Amino acid sequence: MATAMPTNVPKIEKDKFKLVKKIGSGGFGAVFQMTWKSPQGDIQVAVKRLNEPDPNELNILASLDHASIVKLLGFVDEEMDFWLILELCEGGSLRSYLDEHGGLSTNLQLFVHWAEQATIPIKYLRGKQILHKDLKSPNYLITCDKKLKLADFGLAKKIEHTISNATERASYSWMAPELFTLGKLSPNYDIFALAVVIWELWTGQIPFKGLDFQVVAWKVCQLKERLPIPADMPQPIADLLRQCWDENWHKRPSIEHIISVIAALLPLATAVPVHIWQQQVLTGPWVLEKRFGSDGPGEIQQYANDVTVNPNGDIAIIDSSTKVKVFSIEGVYKCSMDTTQGLQPGQWSQPHQITTSSDGSTYFVTNNTNCVLMYSADCKFKGQWESACPQGSSITPCLCGLAIDAKDYVYVGDMKSRYIYKHKQDGPFVTSVKVDIQPCYISVTSQDTIIVGEYAQYYAKPPQIVSNTGQVLHTLKHPTDELHVQWACFGIHCYRDTLFITNMTNQKKSWTHEILFYSLSGQYLGCIPIHDARPRCLAMTANGSKLIVGGDCDGNCSIYALQK
Ligand code: ADP
Repeated sequence: MATAMPTNVPKIEKDKFKLVKKIGSGGFGAVFQMTWKSPQGDIQVAVKRLNEPDPNELNILASLDHASIVKLLGFVDEEMDFWLILELCEGGSLRSYLDEHGGLSTNLQLFVHWAEQATIPIKYLRGKQILHKDLKSPNYLITCDKKLKLADFGLAKKIEHTISNATERASYSWMAPELFTLGKLSPNYDIFALAVVIWELWTGQIPFKGLDFQVVAWKVCQLKERLPIPADMPQPIADLLRQCWDENWHKRPSIEHIISVIAALLPLATAVPVHIWQQQVLTGPWVLEKRFGSDGPGEIQQYANDVTVNPNGDIAIIDSSTKVKVFSIEGVYKCSMDTTQGLQPGQWSQPHQITTSSDGSTYFVTNNTNCVLMYSADCKFKGQWESACPQGSSITPCLCGLAIDAKDYVYVGDMKSRYIYKHKQDGPFVTSVKVDIQPCYISVTSQDTIIVGEYAQYYAKPPQIVSNTGQVLHTLKHPTDELHVQWACFGIHCYRDTLFITNMTNQKKSWTHEILFYSLSGQYLGCIPIHDARPRCLAMTANGSKLIVGGDCDGNCSIYALQK
């Protein structure tokens, strides 16, 4: 053959292989399981026997070395035979797995892991300027330890930065519109198909099943139809698929963004032991990534009073105005909630605290009424419900602290009566707990204990950890000045049972620039220095990799990233 053969993988003689069985076939040829009598001993391998020599697939595979890509072990190039010798993936293709077991909507853990393993090799290929061009469930293979590996580089090609001509057609149910309409490939071609694979992982279905090429082309390009997004799909994934299927390839998200959205779901799928998490946090470092909120409709007015991060990564911030502003995790303003909706005559609104449901569909807000307000993820007012608050009246401020537990019960702190009321998320009262400090800031741990912080500029009592019957289990002590410190705690956040607390002043009444953290037994664990602002409120992304800090008095918020 005229084309150069790779030098980094061995050329092997055919007689070193013994057939075990046939495992796949297609227009290209067939795939067999064989025993390779290698210098290291007998190895089970997959042999892709091509009808015609394909130096393209061979050379591309030879240039790749990634844990999530099927490894090329060697090749056979003899008179009538051109074979690719590949690492054997005993679990067969992802498509046959999905056909047999159905989609992974009931197995979030496997869904997230496989979505990640399907995505990561695309980032690697992107780095090498290679388009796979045929991403689909039959081309992902499963190893004996249930990992996904990308295979079949028969159509793969080196890409230029711009759109390029494509001679061959890919599998049309996964095809991006530019290939249908222009016969061209864009650098984001694989992103479109990858989203179809993620859709397959969730639904288990074959995309556009039973429809022929012309019908799919008509639907995708003329009618702008896309595969139906199931109602039970996690919102961040649903949004991601829509973006990946944008007709305009420029607007499809980057592979890094896709990885971050999937990674954000990992904590739902894997529970990192608390002590490991605490170690990570303690060792940091947390690095300032972005400051935002300084202008336009997303300008944060004076104080960032409270902040929450929705599971899809959106950041909602209460400032000194009646509008609760929502930003993307990149700090880009998205929309705002108007907390004056639903007010009775004579009432006014100063939003206090915000929290979000575990599925990210609802924000809950307390303002100075007796009601908890609800908003959709895109800031639409969804209604409100009155808390059991006995001493409040329609004009007396009453509710302040707000938190949600792992079962989506909403806890509301009443500053006047010092009760914390537990409600179902659509309003019905469940129970209440009496505490002995003002429950201005609350957070609920996975162990059903409640962290309570009081509001006062200088003379607040220290935050407490209380049981679900109201018994004080621990009172937090400041690490440097146990007796005299003046607590001014404005933000409490409990993440994986580590407590993050802002304490804005020290015993000399000067401002502090740190976030303190404690274990659930009240033990001080360490602090994160925050130099760019006086930290007032804080929240953490679902995967624990980003810390959002709302500044005091400077109309800004900051995103800190945990460097691993
Ligand atoms: P095609 O070019 O027809 O898509 P593939 O390389 O995808 O060829 O192989 C076709 C089928 O052969 C796969 O769907 C899979 O079932 C099987 N196969 C391919 N490579 C391997 C491998 N390394 N290990 C196990 N099975 C494989």
